[in-house]
Amino acid sequence: MTAALSVLSPNPAVLEGLPLAIDRDEVLRFQGYKKDVDVPSPQVLAIFEEALALGLRLSTPRVVYRAVAVTGGAADRIDAGGERLHVPQIARLWGAIEVVGTGICTVGEAIEARVRQLFDAREFPLAVMLDSVGSAAVESLAEYANDLLCQAGLRAGTKVTNRISPGYAGWDTAEQAALFRLCPGDLIGVRLNDACFMTPGKSISWLVGIGAEARVDHYFTQCRRCWMRDCAYRRAPAATTVRQPGEGVW
Ligand code: SF4
Repeated sequence: MTAALSVLSPNPAVLEGLPLAIDRDEVLRFQGYKKDVDVPSPQVLAIFEEALALGLRLSTPRVVYRAVAVTGGAADRIDAGGERLHVPQIARLWGAIEVVGTGICTVGEAIEARVRQLFDAREFPLAVMLDSVGSAAVESLAEYANDLLCQAGLRAGTKVTNRISPGYAGWDTAEQAALFRLCPGDLIGVRLNDACFMTPGKSISWLVGIGAEARVDHYFTQCRRCWMRDCAYRRAPAATTVRQPGEGVW
């Protein structure tokens, strides 16, 4: 893993070998199960365990991160690095920010390749479950990166918001291209096509706001699911088990 990275780093920084915590409930949610309502059968759980082991073996988690100074903005817009990002209500949601943290993360291509092989072999239940494991894996990686940035920001005397991604909360997917111009996905092997579709598919691009007055927890209390077990700045108890991140020191 790359060490001693700064939350305010203007140069792209790559992190590798990050831990993954793949949540069973989230995988099953991708499969259409409703938590506390739908009870998976022992056969489904056995397929989950097989897919989980396979997914962990095939994942190569990587993150690229770059901080970019904010040069202007409006109620629904952030200007940074020569790009204009149009995010509904962002000034109200994030408050005053000085910098945006741009990031892209991926678990690599091997999971998708294996899913295709399984479909070809007509092993549909395992194929579909492995695809869901891949989706949950990259979500967990994005959350982990958000947690690392939050704690690095606090150490640096600033605050980091929850992440947002193109295609969500009214942010046009087409602006993924601007995000890629700010943060070089090619450093971790993530490419964007003309339709703003990322390859590998199990990748997430995101943006956080950074600043002394930035409003954190604007759509959920991040501490409740943060992995920083011994964080001195914790604002709320964790709702799920938290664990010490290996060498996740930025
Ligand atoms: S516990 Fe809360 S304050 Fe600490 S790093 Fe996690 S989200 Fe940030």
